[in-house]
Amino acid sequence: MQDLIDKIKASKDLAQLEALRVSVLGKKGYLTTQFAKLKELNERKKKELAKSLNEEKEAFNKAYEQRHQELSKLALNEDMKKDALNFSYFDEGCVSGALHPINSTMDRIIDYFVSLNFSVEKGPLIEDDFHNFEALNLPKTHPARDMQDTFYFDDGSLLRTQTSPVQIRTMLAQKPPVRMIAPGAVFRRDFDLTHTPMFHQIEGLVVEEGAKVSFANLKSILVEFLHYFFGDVKIRFRPSFFPFTEPSAEVDISCVFCKGGGCRVCKQTGWLEVLGSGVVDPNVYKFVNYQNVSGYAFGLGIERFAMLYHQIPDLRSLFEGDLRLLEQFR
Ligand SMILES: [Zn+2]
Repeated sequence: MQDLIDKIKASKDLAQLEALRVSVLGKKGYLTTQFAKLKELNERKKKELAKSLNEEKEAFNKAYEQRHQELSKLALNEDMKKDALNFSYFDEGCVSGALHPINSTMDRIIDYFVSLNFSVEKGPLIEDDFHNFEALNLPKTHPARDMQDTFYFDDGSLLRTQTSPVQIRTMLAQKPPVRMIAPGAVFRRDFDLTHTPMFHQIEGLVVEEGAKVSFANLKSILVEFLHYFFGDVKIRFRPSFFPFTEPSAEVDISCVFCKGGGCRVCKQTGWLEVLGSGVVDPNVYKFVNYQNVSGYAFGLGIERFAMLYHQIPDLRSLFEGDLRLLEQFR
């Protein structure tokens, strides 16, 4: 038996120990066989042998348990070494990240308007009908509401479809002059090649007391801004309609892909629409109790600016989180 116990103490791993256990206590093991022999003996001899066998078994079990504990601990340590995070890995060749093109585009635009003394205003993503529609000159019966497919909650609140409600909230909270931009996420029930249910806008609003602000101010600031953002492009203003402004204009730049020659992206027109703008409709001021003021507003889609600036063909790739795309913006 001492021989077996020495073997147990010398066992190198759990598998070796288990093999030893089977050779002693398994079906055909040494002690099992010895115990089986007991029934062939007379009562006296049986008692004697049983006593010594039980002592051997106890000694064996004790040695086995002790070694089992030691080897389990060793095995656990080995496993932990294997699974441990190798922090030195992050030291070597650690790659620094970069801003997502949506964020960097947003930052570039914000920087421009902040340098012109615009404040940056934020508002809630969950809005009510008044701020998102009604105060923006979109009464319930207004056909322009069909232009926007809205996510509604059961209680009638909604995910804002535009950043314009921030303009209403800002005007309700402060007296003119107002000189603000409102960047942020907006939501519409749209999903295809050029639409995603969540996207980003920046809107700007300038309101001054009296008749200080005109369409000419709006035009000059937008021309300067588009040259800042896109460089040397041609710019044109087209008459348009928005409920919030009157008169209204959409702003086009010459196509950044074909330089105005005509391509698939600009549908062979040579122009790309990039902004909506206009003089604030006097109706809007009634909702915020402004009197004797003048102002202009404009709005743009961040995704569109990012795609045109970086020449990204598919809008959806901006939201897939694919590192192969993102690594290009380091
Ligand atoms: Zn083009």
